[in-house]
Amino acid sequence: MANNLQNRRQFLTKTGKAGIALAAMPLFSKISPSNLFAISEFQQQPLPYAYNALEPFIDALTMEIHYTKHAAGYAKNLADACVAEKVATSTTSLTSLLNTISTYTVKMRNNAGGHYNHELFWQLMKPAPSTNPTGALAAAIEKSFGSFADFKTAFGDSAKARFGSGWAWLIIKVGKLEITSTPNQDNPLMDVAEVKGTPILGADVWEHAYYLKYQNKRADYLAAFWNVVNWAVVEERMKAAM
Ligand code: MN
Repeated sequence: MANNLQNRRQFLTKTGKAGIALAAMPLFSKISPSNLFAISEFQQQPLPYAYNALEPFIDALTMEIHYTKHAAGYAKNLADACVAEKVATSTTSLTSLLNTISTYTVKMRNNAGGHYNHELFWQLMKPAPSTNPTGALAAAIEKSFGSFADFKTAFGDSAKARFGSGWAWLIIKVGKLEITSTPNQDNPLMDVAEVKGTPILGADVWEHAYYLKYQNKRADYLAAFWNVVNWAVVEERMKAAM
């Protein structure tokens, strides 16, 4: 990995992008060609799989429109809002922005949330089959919800009960797992959230996330979602948040 990082630094230096890039570049432990320019958390990152990778549970056209239109739009509008509202994206973390979102405009709230939520959402999925949670995550789910099946029911109920557009979340709140949901592009990191915590799993329940394939059947989309959850990422996030 060290060699890859060194190569990337050399490449950036040669191409003249080093000044900006290196200043903002965290020392990722994993560098791959696909995230060569994955530098700022305020920018849209490459999708970690192909548009059709989550078929048949999430269709390729939905993924392509979701990523290239909806999510790209949030990232662009977030960048515009940061300029207008003088947020220094090279020295401000996205999380700290969300933690103080009540001090910014509605445009900032919608797009900072929209960008954060989608970047997280892509990471939380992977091509099927999805294996069930294991280890510390499985134990925490059983402790908080009784069983994995009971957890899925409760999470699905929360997602189905969210009227209109929004997200369902599994969060860490003061060291414990909890299910919550938020309207629009809000999330539990925001100071305006009813229930605050660190999101470790999220399901997008905007119609744009499922309407092409599932039309009005949000429940069917949510049932399919379990086939593509990346529980290893959820467990990593849980451990980091605990
Ligand atoms: Mn979405």
